Amino acid sequence: NSYPLNLYPAPSEIKVLAQRRNEILTQLASVKEQQRQFTNAVAHELRSPLSLVYGYLQRSQKQSKTLTEAQKETLGMAIAEAERMTMILQDLIDLARAESIDVPISGEVIILNDFIRDIVSMTKKFEHRQIETELSAVRIRAQTNRDYLMQVLDHLISNAIKHSDLNTTIVIMLNQVRDAAIIQVRDHGSGISSSQQELVFEPFYRTDPSRARSTGGTGLGLAIAKTIAERMGGTITVDSHPGEGSTFTLILPAIGTRS
Ligand code: ADP
Repeated sequence: NSYPLNLYPAPSEIKVLAQRRNEILTQLASVKEQQRQFTNAVAHELRSPLSLVYGYLQRSQKQSKTLTEAQKETLGMAIAEAERMTMILQDLIDLARAESIDVPISGEVIILNDFIRDIVSMTKKFEHRQIETELSAVRIRAQTNRDYLMQVLDHLISNAIKHSDLNTTIVIMLNQVRDAAIIQVRDHGSGISSSQQELVFEPFYRTDPSRARSTGGTGLGLAIAKTIAERMGGTITVDSHPGEGSTFTLILPAIGTRS
């Protein structure tokens, strides 16, 4: 035949290339682990001085009788920024924790229908939002860690709330296709352009940095959610149209196969 067989590496070369590839992957994993440990250490180190600064600012606010209006306003802004920094540090610690292979992520068998119902009733109580559910009539189960799953859904639902208007509805759906449990959070909010849909899962990426301050996010929520989902053997993707809304889809391995 006319295939240029000599273009393909010989079996002995393939073995060497595969070995080299494994070495590079191991090195990469080790660099990532060092980076994770460093971020975690920095975030922990910064927490104590920041909480002291926060305490001093609050103390000054309590003695605000002697302050002018302008000084009170500046103090208020400093406190808000200290709170924001505290949130960023906490999210960095959460991200490093989610990335750590030493932290076990598997857990108990959870009936996702009940789990989602509980989260929604809790969220409704605090947010007074129109949140609807479209849950499979059949029980869908996954073996996973409750706290981590709660974190993932909390990020997705609070994003849906943050990026849509008060009078719009947020829908949470649950289905199973073969061995995949599919949880979707759909909003009719601002939406995300197709060129930004991959980027929103990167740490600190915001579609509109000027709005980030007012919505109060850290830019780490989706990075944390995606890391946890992948550690659970699943994925998170987004489908969105600017001006129409977004649907975030979390896929987890389900227990028991359905067609
Ligand atoms: P943040 O703390 O800024 O919300 P996230 O990592 O959760 O950080 O989200 C990153 C960015 O993705 C947000 O700043 C926002 O621009 C965009 N985003 C996330 N969820 C939605 C959504 N439901 N609708 C529109 N934009 C979203």
